[in-house]
Amino acid sequence: MQLIGAHMSIAGGVFNAILRGDELGCTAIQIFPKNARRLFEKPLDKTAVAKWNESLAASRYVKSVIAHSGYLINLAAEDDEKWERYIEAMMDEMARCDVMGIKYIALHPGSPGDMGEEFGIRRVAFAIDIIYDERNFAVDIALETTAGTGHHLGWRFEHLRNIMDNAKHGNRLKVIFDTCHTFAAGYDFTSESGYRNVWKEFDEIVGFERLVAMHINDSKYPPGSRKDRHEHIGKGFLGIKPFEMIMQDERLIKIPKILETPKEDDWDRKNLRLLWELSGEDVPDVLK
Ligand SMILES: [Zn+2]
Ligand SMILES: [Zn+2]
Repeated sequence: MQLIGAHMSIAGGVFNAILRGDELGCTAIQIFPKNARRLFEKPLDKTAVAKWNESLAASRYVKSVIAHSGYLINLAAEDDEKWERYIEAMMDEMARCDVMGIKYIALHPGSPGDMGEEFGIRRVAFAIDIIYDERNFAVDIALETTAGTGHHLGWRFEHLRNIMDNAKHGNRLKVIFDTCHTFAAGYDFTSESGYRNVWKEFDEIVGFERLVAMHINDSKYPPGSRKDRHEHIGKGFLGIKPFEMIMQDERLIKIPKILETPKEDDWDRKNLRLLWELSGEDVPDVLK
């Protein structure tokens, strides 16, 4: 059975994300380890952790959970004071992951502003070394491919490779491929040959062995637009075809595939049903 699911809200307590995932037949989910718009929050208490563990053990569908770090964290930031705060915030989120037994946390590499790519790449790598030097976290950081809005890094596979190569703890870095971001960044995998070439390039530069999850989103904007706007599956510039190729790709069968599409009007249900259908596997009962 493939690992297919969506990002789930932790409103009302982290355990709720598992219950929400179960209602939609998600075999994989993604959560924010805390409110994504704040840098710090009080730690998870014993009751919250116990409820998390019980819910996961009792879950009918959820087998895999990944985390996504907060949007304010920028490990490429130029300002030293801010950068140190972001490192602390990242460590706080990673500590939460360790408590919940989550193996991977997605991270957008960040933006160095006007300082340029090279500065940014070294800055992120240095931050990662500080983090793992300080504490031997169980959770690995998964660098996410980005759309490359503004000065944000991660829109070329080379950025991810260079961050991994510049960090002494580079072996702790994994990768998440976001279909919307990567496409908007300029990697067009809508045709069969495009699909083949993009994954070949990904394998040569990043390596399939680093890939730990995919974010499955269509894109509101065309390739090369460098705009990060997610669309429902098949409704954007990607269309159905690349998702069909992804869901059928033997190399990606074991990789968790997580939707981050808008949730209004029960759209998770429709998008999830579609992904299961494209995979050729049985649609979970709760989605029928
Ligand atoms: Zn992301
Ligand atoms: Zn994403």
